[in-house]
Amino acid sequence: MGAVMTAAPASPLKLFNSLTRSLEPFEPVHPGEARVYSCGPTVYNYPHIGNMRAYVFADTLGRTLSYKGYKLTHVINITDVGHLTDDADAGEDKLEKAAAERAQSIWDIAKHYTEAYWADVKALNIRQPAHWSIATDYVPAMIEFAKTIAGKHCYELEGGLYFDTTTVADYGRLARHGTDEGESRIDPVDGKRHPADFAIWRKTPAGETRQMEWDSPWGRGAPGWHLECSVMSEALLGFPFDIHTGGIDHREIHHPNEIAQNQAHGCSDASGARMWMHNNFLVDRSGKMSKSSGEFLRIQLLIDKGYHPLAYRLMCLQAHYRSELEFSWDGLGAALTRLKRLVMAAASARDAEAAAPTDRRVTDLLAKFDAAMSDDLNTPVALTLLEETAAMKKIDAGQKRAALAAMDAVLGLNLLTTARSDLRVRPKTATIGEDEIEATLARRKDARAAKDFAASDALRDELVAAGVDVMDGDPLGWDWQPGAN
Ligand code: AMP
Ligand code: ZN
Repeated sequence: MGAVMTAAPASPLKLFNSLTRSLEPFEPVHPGEARVYSCGPTVYNYPHIGNMRAYVFADTLGRTLSYKGYKLTHVINITDVGHLTDDADAGEDKLEKAAAERAQSIWDIAKHYTEAYWADVKALNIRQPAHWSIATDYVPAMIEFAKTIAGKHCYELEGGLYFDTTTVADYGRLARHGTDEGESRIDPVDGKRHPADFAIWRKTPAGETRQMEWDSPWGRGAPGWHLECSVMSEALLGFPFDIHTGGIDHREIHHPNEIAQNQAHGCSDASGARMWMHNNFLVDRSGKMSKSSGEFLRIQLLIDKGYHPLAYRLMCLQAHYRSELEFSWDGLGAALTRLKRLVMAAASARDAEAAAPTDRRVTDLLAKFDAAMSDDLNTPVALTLLEETAAMKKIDAGQKRAALAAMDAVLGLNLLTTARSDLRVRPKTATIGEDEIEATLARRKDARAAKDFAASDALRDELVAAGVDVMDGDPLGWDWQPGAN
């Protein structure tokens, strides 16, 4: 089924730039193009669901830019070297530490967790970026970049090469250092001239060997974490590029440091990227998001408990990306129900031949949807418009299909390709199979029809004991859902 042109997107795209703390019109550096760099995962462990919120956000931004007609080049990096256990210069390299603890090679660890991350990317219907840039592939380029700034902007200490943050104008303006508490979080390293100075190159201490080390003019060692993003973004997108994204924590240290490096490197634009955008955090009051807790919250855990991963995507979209989002299993369950309703409502249009929207009701909804997404990615409003569209009655199915397809291309919920049955994920702990669940439900339905409520309750208890909740009175006629957590 070919794509059908929907109403021309009319609202100008406005995005919140963390640099100015204000909404700004998106004006591409290269007309008709959008170049976006997103800080990627550090692959020493599985990503938690909060980390994945950052990529759902970056993907929503990318999809919106594509929908607005820009030719998108998106880069997400994979950090397999340099990220210390503390974002500043304290602690150990996260990958070296994981490798030592597990007596494994760093390369095996990085490969395993990169693949696990990619599985989550796929499960959440996050589009593939143009490039997945792997930090260790760029170490020679990082050394070349460092050479260009070493003379004027860096000094050497026992531990390696450090960036002098007073050599660039306005250091930390992104974080609003001085007004925020950003700087106080930075641990001192002996000999650093200023607390905020940071490592460009970390020398391997004498007598030690590391699994990952390279020769450099500043001794054998490894690059500082901030360097990689400056180098890979310049290499793949060119300075200045349009938008740099990351979680809100990166606004404090990592991104100010990238900006300082870019400035020192002589980037013609003051910061390397014109806009810096940050998603707020997913918070979990139970503490289960910490990777050090045994059963920590990751996408696979949601699936194991019977939640389709797109319910988590929907949960993210229900909040604006700049708002904190609190995770709860009830909230996830509600998002799953909402997704089921949407899939069922969209079903009537799924098999229709898409037709250009001409009906006023459809074109109005499309215009409102465009306005919502253009307003700094207002996904909570966009979702309600998607629902209104899906719920439209007495409407040409082809037009409805075209409108739903256009909206879903932005929201990425796979509404037109997901079947209701796809959203039933059998919990891993359920001790009975899907067929048996269906058979028990059928027997229960018969018992209820015969008003034998004792038998019906017994069958229900049987299912609950097996890890499956029965949804009586479910207006969708959805018979079962994941068991209580
Ligand atoms: P990391 O693998 O630690 O480098 O983090 C990957 C991405 O997830 C970064 O953009 C972080 O800013 C972001 N991030 C970390 N924790 C959360 C959270 N709880 N909610 C949303 N984003 C997060
Ligand atoms: Zn980065």
